[in-house]
Amino acid sequence: MMNNQEVITEYLRNILPEKAEWEVELITYAQENRVPIIEPVSMRFITQLIKLSHPAHILEIGTAIGYSALSMHHALPKSKITTLERDIEMISQAKNNIAKYSLNNHVNLIAGDALDTLPKLIEEEKKFEFIFIDAAKGQYKKFFEYAMALQADEGVIITDNVLFKGYATGQLTDHNRFQKLGKKINDYNIWLMNNENYHTSILPIGDGIALSIKK
Ligand code: SAM
Repeated sequence: MMNNQEVITEYLRNILPEKAEWEVELITYAQENRVPIIEPVSMRFITQLIKLSHPAHILEIGTAIGYSALSMHHALPKSKITTLERDIEMISQAKNNIAKYSLNNHVNLIAGDALDTLPKLIEEEKKFEFIFIDAAKGQYKKFFEYAMALQADEGVIITDNVLFKGYATGQLTDHNRFQKLGKKINDYNIWLMNNENYHTSILPIGDGIALSIKK
């Protein structure tokens, strides 16, 4: 039986408007091949923020097959997107999907570990108005620290999966590995909420989204 949160997520998922063919193809591929992509309801919220804030430059940490990068791109095709991915198979698929479904040449995938790429982007003095963190959950704090250095004066940093199926609360005790990761995410959430330079809200949309802006 579904709990209240699951019922609500299912409801929100079901009332989303019809998706474009490319979205259906990528979501179906991800489901069939167990590729973790963002929950479509969360994606909808992120594209809403992009349409509201019109960032000229977007940075994504964690491309997978390119579903979220392409969703952000279609929400605001004039924005330049830089997306980082380290997994060779994901890189190859994302490159194909981006070549097939991007509307211009504004989506740039940088292959390699983000922990190597991010310091290079800082050295090159790159700035981004919108940063989306969606890679290894155990590294969120490091990603956010790099993101702070890369953030333009105005802008937001989004982190996905900050509730991590409820395991971030410490209340679920049925899965050892999820509990450990949940504890790390909880540490990150506490650190983030108390970061004196940022104002953060955590929204229980999808797997939990943290929205951080500079104070
Ligand atoms: N944002 C994608 C979407 O919603 O379509 C999903 C990204 S998936 C949750 C996380 C991805 O981050 C994986 O493909 C993984 O290989 C990648 N990743 C994890 N740690 C990384 C790192 N340190 N550097 C680069 N990529 C990383």
